[in-house]
Amino acid sequence: MRFEYSENNEGLIRRLNELVSSGGISHAYIIEGDSWLDKTSFAETFAKGIFCPKGLGENCGDCGMCDKIDHGNCEDLVYVRPEASGNVKDENIETMQEVIKTRPFGKRHVVIIENADHMTLRAQNRLLKTLEEPPGDTVIILLSENIENLTPTVRSRCVRFHINHLGSEKYDHMMQTAEDLIEMFGRKAGFFEVMLKINDIIRDKESISALLDCMEVTYRNMLVDQGGRVTAYSPEDLTEKIYLIEEASTDIRMNVSPASAIKNLIIKIGG
Ligand SMILES: [Zn+2]
Repeated sequence: MRFEYSENNEGLIRRLNELVSSGGISHAYIIEGDSWLDKTSFAETFAKGIFCPKGLGENCGDCGMCDKIDHGNCEDLVYVRPEASGNVKDENIETMQEVIKTRPFGKRHVVIIENADHMTLRAQNRLLKTLEEPPGDTVIILLSENIENLTPTVRSRCVRFHINHLGSEKYDHMMQTAEDLIEMFGRKAGFFEVMLKINDIIRDKESISALLDCMEVTYRNMLVDQGGRVTAYSPEDLTEKIYLIEEASTDIRMNVSPASAIKNLIIKIGG
């Protein structure tokens, strides 16, 4: 499969390729990424990998099927798009459910839900029924900027992928910085030591947002690994830290200065 942003997402693309070509396609995915990333085209590329008649995972890009997807007229590819308000409503999900109940032209329907994190609670509850018992081989792809807006039951039904927006080298550096910070918090390092560590990135909104993402991923991994690994934190501690990081990310999105958002976070999380 060929993807946009491929230079930053080798790991993700390798996993998608493997699972599509091995036929191990799940019924539901969440593709997460910042608002400015074109998640729809990422999902369409994924859909090509599933639909392309040259073989699963092929996504040749120039057969009739790939061409139809490019032109937005593939009958089996169903879009759920938000209303003008930005929300995805109950009725939008209902309409999609009617479509996927019908027989697909090919082997299956693939559904792309844009702004899935803006589904109303009713819409999410309705979607849940489809996630629990999807008709045939239907694949549902939820596109999301802020996964926390999805109910835990919806999240638990989906395989989750995250699109990075950093080059892999920068991403590795950010991941290392996140791990260093977490280690510092663990030994209750002083505020200034922590600030010194991030001194070079603190004014840059994009870098700070990326750092917060990396910290969240690290804490989430600790939460998932809890069974197999000894950490100093209880699941409640980790959940609290993840919550604080998400709060800081939201603040930055709401135009709080990255420097003060991160200072607040350090005081709350490290204290
Ligand atoms: Zn093709």
